Amino acid sequence: MTAYDVLIVGAGHGGAQAAIALRQQKFAGSIAIVGDEPDPPYERPPLSKEYLSGDKSFERLLIRPVAFWAERDVALLLGRRVTTMDPVAHTVATDTGETLGYRHLIWATGGAPRRLVCSGHDLVGVHTVRTRADADRMRAEMAGVAGAVVIGGGYIGLEAAAVLAKAGKRVIVLEALDRVLARVAGEPLSRFYEAEHRAHGVEVRLEARVACIEERDGYVAGVRLADGEVLACEMVVVGIGIQPAVAPLLAAGADGDNGVAVDGRCRTSLVDVFAIGDCALHANGFADGAAIRLESVQNATDQAAVVAKALTGMPVDYDAVPWFWSHQYDLKLQTVGLSIGYDRLVVRGSPAARSFSVVYLKGGAVIALDCVNATRDYVQGRRLVVERSVVDPAALADAATPLKELAG
Ligand code: FAD
Repeated sequence: MTAYDVLIVGAGHGGAQAAIALRQQKFAGSIAIVGDEPDPPYERPPLSKEYLSGDKSFERLLIRPVAFWAERDVALLLGRRVTTMDPVAHTVATDTGETLGYRHLIWATGGAPRRLVCSGHDLVGVHTVRTRADADRMRAEMAGVAGAVVIGGGYIGLEAAAVLAKAGKRVIVLEALDRVLARVAGEPLSRFYEAEHRAHGVEVRLEARVACIEERDGYVAGVRLADGEVLACEMVVVGIGIQPAVAPLLAAGADGDNGVAVDGRCRTSLVDVFAIGDCALHANGFADGAAIRLESVQNATDQAAVVAKALTGMPVDYDAVPWFWSHQYDLKLQTVGLSIGYDRLVVRGSPAARSFSVVYLKGGAVIALDCVNATRDYVQGRRLVVERSVVDPAALADAATPLKELAG
């Protein structure tokens, strides 16, 4: 059995950044990353954007060039999945029959896309977008597709819809709630994106209920709605969230449920086991301490840094400011903070001019901003979020006043 000082499970964003940060902190012990995908760590965000559209090659998605890992003495054990772990023996077992030992384990497995449960959910032509393989399958089929139905009006679904619409496909977005982006953004942002997609020829259907996927000769032929209407299409993209990939950890006794519970230093309830990224359920100060999972590059990177510091004798608590982005058409959305629990919002700038920000307030304090083609607000608004500045809403609404002039 090979044992490592640090064994990282998951060769995605968090796993890669943990190894990079450890070496940056001069960690001299052995490091291995076990990953179930065949590729070295790569960035996922372009999978629903520039990679899906063919504007970016896979090589440009790599988090580090292939040679980097050997140069930094980080073993990449790819194409194998950790199926069980033994927290007492400090070992994990893989689906290829190996047992690997660890002194410290970092669990960075992200999540698996939620799938539909109705009939037809597994037909050829039904896609999720989580891995390179997913995006490659979609790209390979796209040429033969005239119509596509996107199920789920969250960021990934809307980004995929934008790529498909730009490629000249007939696109319908089905959203179960009464507005797109309902779980992550305020109504002005939802209505803006709904209108943008419509302006690009996308049909957006709200409060839509999917009954099943219709089949013809083993392929997708359409989506049947609960009221019996069938929307003919050759491709279905399902973007309805993820299920954190934590089963082996929970089976080994780690606390958690929707994710694995971690403390302020990303430690799970199992000795010497950390968890980071999309799968880590943590108390977030920007959500008033509520236990949440964040699905963002920022969170994966910053939690990786927290673990690297803990393992190199410089422990710090995780308190990074959340930020996120989304690209659709020529719209660049940048968000900072978390809008969870806001009680008031202010629109600053002009949605009609396609450059504006939504500022979220709670108890009078700024807690988050969603900035559309408004990078200056995004950069300057960060301080308002960090300081939870109490600002007059009328001043926030005045786009002529730079946000930096409103900071305490
Ligand atoms: P991942 O990067 O998903 O890595 C986890 C890895 O672990 C995967 O390779 C997985 O296959 C592997 N794995 C799982 N279980 C096991 C196991 N048992 N054994 C071995 N390996 C395992 N974030 C942004 O901030 N901005 C964006 O615009 C944005 N766009 C996105 C678009 C798409 C299409 C997707 C899918 C994500 C996007 N995200 C975006 C989210 C961001 O990519 C994730 O938050 C980030 O990748 C999380 O890193 P992670 O390490 O937690 O998980």
